[in-house]
Amino acid sequence: MDIFVWIYFLGIVVESVIRAPLNRKRKAETMNVRRVTSQEKTILFLLLIAMFIFPLIYAFSDWLSFADYTLPIWAGWLGVLILFGALFVFWRAHADLGLNWSPTLEIREKHELITKGIYGVIRHPMYASQWLWVIAQPLLLQNWVAGWLNLLVFVVFYAVRVKAEEQLMIEQFGDEYRAYMKKVGGVIPKL
Ligand code: SAH
Repeated sequence: MDIFVWIYFLGIVVESVIRAPLNRKRKAETMNVRRVTSQEKTILFLLLIAMFIFPLIYAFSDWLSFADYTLPIWAGWLGVLILFGALFVFWRAHADLGLNWSPTLEIREKHELITKGIYGVIRHPMYASQWLWVIAQPLLLQNWVAGWLNLLVFVVFYAVRVKAEEQLMIEQFGDEYRAYMKKVGGVIPKL
């Protein structure tokens, strides 16, 4: 397995380590609102396949080798750089959102609107981090299936999720969230 594939899986380990403590602690939280549609469950499942299962198949079998391509070495290192950017933003987002984070759309009893830290720069740092990830993936996993599928699925996830999430935040926080939207960009900072 080449170095870029190793680094890709190392990225998955790092994300799991960042997320694990929050995932544990949030189990004790009381939720007021929980919005999980079967459409969302399906897309989350597809994301798992595209981010983890296909890369595993790519790394440990030759089933996908018909779709391999080879990029110049600098492109792989560019992928590493983008992946590190993704991990940094992912880490900051978890540190700032804390127990308000959830894998699906939820509002906990003690939910707070976070607008500080990285949430003062962009409103969706976790999704921004995921954008960086899906751009890095085809540079690291040089295969038309294992590299690109995640980008395809994520485009759909992003479109569906952000709309529903902002709707929920407006219902919950009203003008406070509207003012926040005016001031702070979505995944790209406002100048
Ligand atoms: N869109 C954000 C958060 C993703 S986690 C990001 O990309 O970083 C999804 C959960 O975060 C949702 O259940 C929502 O309730 C919560 N959430 C989103 N933005 C928030 C904010 N600014 N403050 C508090 N909770 C937020």
